Amino acid sequence: MKHPFKNVRWYVLLLGLAAALIILAVLQYRSTRQLSDATSDQMRATLGASLMDLRRGLENELAPISRDLQPSREDRRQDDSQQLARGFAEWQRTSAHPALVTNVLLWRLGGEGSELLRLDMARDEFVPGPWPSPLAGLRAELESISANFTGNPTPPPSGGEPFPRPPRPAHFRPSSWLIDQQVPALVHMNVEAGSTSTPPKPSWVIVTLSQDVLAKQVFPELVQRYFSGSNGLDYRVAVLGDTEGQLPIYSSEAGLLGNEASFVPDAGLNLFGPPSIAVMQLAGPKPGGSGARPGPVVEFGPLGQPPHSGSPGPSPGEHRDPFMIETIRDGPDERDWVVVAQHRKGSLEAAVSAIFHRNLAINFGVLLVLSLTTLLIIVTSARARRLGQLQVDFVAGVSHELRTPLTGIVAAAQNIHDGLVESKDQLMRYGGAILNQAHQLSDLIEQILMFSAVEKGRQRYHLQPTDVAQVVDASLKNTESMIRSAGITVERAVAPDLPLVNADFQALSRCLENLITNAVKYGGDERWIGVRAFAASSIQQEKEVRITVEDRGIGIDSRDLKEIFEPFYRSPAVTAAQIHGNGLGLPLAARIAEAMGGRLRVQSVPGKGSSFTVHLPVLDAPAAGQRVEAASSVNSGS
Ligand code: ADP
Repeated sequence: MKHPFKNVRWYVLLLGLAAALIILAVLQYRSTRQLSDATSDQMRATLGASLMDLRRGLENELAPISRDLQPSREDRRQDDSQQLARGFAEWQRTSAHPALVTNVLLWRLGGEGSELLRLDMARDEFVPGPWPSPLAGLRAELESISANFTGNPTPPPSGGEPFPRPPRPAHFRPSSWLIDQQVPALVHMNVEAGSTSTPPKPSWVIVTLSQDVLAKQVFPELVQRYFSGSNGLDYRVAVLGDTEGQLPIYSSEAGLLGNEASFVPDAGLNLFGPPSIAVMQLAGPKPGGSGARPGPVVEFGPLGQPPHSGSPGPSPGEHRDPFMIETIRDGPDERDWVVVAQHRKGSLEAAVSAIFHRNLAINFGVLLVLSLTTLLIIVTSARARRLGQLQVDFVAGVSHELRTPLTGIVAAAQNIHDGLVESKDQLMRYGGAILNQAHQLSDLIEQILMFSAVEKGRQRYHLQPTDVAQVVDASLKNTESMIRSAGITVERAVAPDLPLVNADFQALSRCLENLITNAVKYGGDERWIGVRAFAASSIQQEKEVRITVEDRGIGIDSRDLKEIFEPFYRSPAVTAAQIHGNGLGLPLAARIAEAMGGRLRVQSVPGKGSSFTVHLPVLDAPAAGQRVEAASSVNSGS
């Protein structure tokens, strides 16, 4: 039979498929890489947008304060303290976080001196009071700015040095709200225009904010709103009170800021003033820095842009937000509040890399399944082709096997019918020939039926303690006429006192008959068969009985050795030599041996001969005793 893989077309097909798979793999890798690059860009943009959203969320939280505490244009000339008290009460009534404001102060300048009023929240009215000490720095800032409007700065507190006067912020507009991030406090200036004789009178509204409420209520809510994914927070988020990470205000995870080694944020954004996306680095305090603790340092690059806008970001002084809180100090002294975020996978790169590897694994998994399926299809179709060929050979072989005895029977019957047989002796010879051929036919049919039953699992075996010597003798007797007519010498060597085996007598006998028949068919000119039975130990050191059928015939090619136990297989040499057969004898013999817990093995040298050995496990002694006893009691009882 022609081997399918010898066909050049198969090789071309295989090579083509392999090449297609390799090209597909390369394309898959590239597209996965591109996808992960795009994912990385998108995640960066989304992170920037979320930071921006949080910043806007905070502004929205503070905007009502500015709205309710900012006197309308008409009110500016009036005593505005009552209106401020009303505005604050209104804000408190409607705010989700009324405790956010800890103090409202009104500081009037101009004229003979300045006056500081503090809102008594219980009585809803302003009462005079001293400057709270934490606001000393803020007061200096406000005085400096006010001087630009009045040209008449308030003298410093008695006995103290004059406050240093940094220049007024470049972006300062009288209408804007400013924040002192160190307090923290929101401030706003109203200027009552002066006349030719009186200078303008500025007054300041100062609203101090509770850092506690910001950390425990406002920031957690904002972070939940803007950084939540399907499985909780996608990012670890922290708000730092300065760009050196030394003043932690809020963190979404406990202990986050105490473990800088694992907290290297992916990006950050200042919360007040012109927005600027920052690239984060982990570093110790800057040389000359005040803090002792290292922290994530916010390195603001060139002014960032709101990532989701797609357009260049606003430059200082050019604000597009309807409400934006300016920082009161301008320059390196300012401590900017920043919100920083780190992906929960450790970093954005780590998250993207995890996605990349997962996608790659899925894609290559699909390719692998595809390759395996293709391989399976190729192997299966090759097998199907082979099986088809085997079946064709089988039909041809069986037809031949049927035709030969039938021809003999028909010829003998014809001679008898034609009256050519005259003597009783002749008649008996013809009868014997017909009987012989009929036996061959029935054997063949029996073999085919038995193979079919074995294959379908319908063959029933009656296993019982069996004497191997008796089985050997029975199989030799059943093949006697064939052996004799072929002029073959049989060398029988059965060891005495062989242990019993657990076997079906008839089936084991058929197994040996098949091996003996083959030895006769393929035994060549030596005309010798050896049948031996002896006890031995298996590789697993278990006791077994071995029955060997040996010949000195044509032998089996090593390429055919692994095929001969396949149903319908016949070696090309025997087919070419027109030796009859159907390819079922050995598969059937092997399956019978296996059904009895044993196996069939072959050794062969082409041109020298073959040796087939049935290995059968020995029946263990107590079980053998019981069974023999049971069998004999049944026999004696019947
Ligand atoms: P069959 O003998 O009907 O062809 P088998 O299944 O009994 O079918 O044997 C399968 C093949 O194994 C044979 O066609 C032959 O090629 C090879 N074979 C079996 N027994 C022997 C043997 N004793 N010597 C040489 N070849 C053998």
